Amino acid sequence: MRAVFTSDDVGASASPEAIQAFHTVVRWLDERSIRGTFFWVPKPADWRRCHEVWNPALLDACARGHDFQLHGLSHDSCLEFGVPQDSTRRTNAAVFAEYEANRARWEKAHSATRLADKLSLAKRIFENVFGEAPLVFRAPCFGVCPAMYEALAQVGIWHSSSRGINPTATAYVLLGDPELRCWTPDFPCRPWVEPPGVTEHPCMEDLCIGGVRPDQTDDLFDLMTSELAHCLDELGDDGVLIFASHYHSMARTWGATRPLFDRVLDWLADRGVTKWITFRELAGET
Ligand SMILES: [Zn+2]
Repeated sequence: MRAVFTSDDVGASASPEAIQAFHTVVRWLDERSIRGTFFWVPKPADWRRCHEVWNPALLDACARGHDFQLHGLSHDSCLEFGVPQDSTRRTNAAVFAEYEANRARWEKAHSATRLADKLSLAKRIFENVFGEAPLVFRAPCFGVCPAMYEALAQVGIWHSSSRGINPTATAYVLLGDPELRCWTPDFPCRPWVEPPGVTEHPCMEDLCIGGVRPDQTDDLFDLMTSELAHCLDELGDDGVLIFASHYHSMARTWGATRPLFDRVLDWLADRGVTKWITFRELAGET
């Protein structure tokens, strides 16, 4: 079975720690012979400085086979391209409060025309850096709306990976409430098509988004493999697993994260997930 290893927020911060974290994760992927797909933010707040410090690292990783795709335009708000899944309200209440307090403003910002303008700019910046067009979009915080899919189609991006399958599991990890440690998926694990024709590839939640404490490792391993097992059963042999991560969270607790991720990838290999492809390769198939 095939899988795509994705990691978000590349290029969003010019801090030396962020670049170092990226190198750490890329080196680990190289050691495991996995080509990753990194979702890149084209125009963060300090974008000139970000481009200056990031571009050599990005192009070097590209040359070694890693893939980059589009993650919002500025990623300045979880509402940049729509509203996050309601099940993330438990861990991200402020975003919903902001949306509800300024609904008219956000509804205007979420028109297909406005979103297509943002995507055209994002795509142009992407092409300037990488010399080719992005094929896949991931909305910041999985905040989406129907107009986002219309806008993606308008700019010729036909693949999105902007839905997390079971955010309840992430809420368990972040809040520690045992009642949330359950498989209550918001979406099916297999991709579907959103009007007017954009394929949505839902992804496994990043259960290590808050880092990994050494005392958490066994519980996280059990939870990750239980979530993955549900997903693999539903995907079947011809499905493609979309694995999500955040390189900066991974690197922050690398001493505990790396052995955990190694165990999870070994478990996946035992379950027949042995072929890691890039999102560009997957999107290129259709
Ligand atoms: Zn992000």
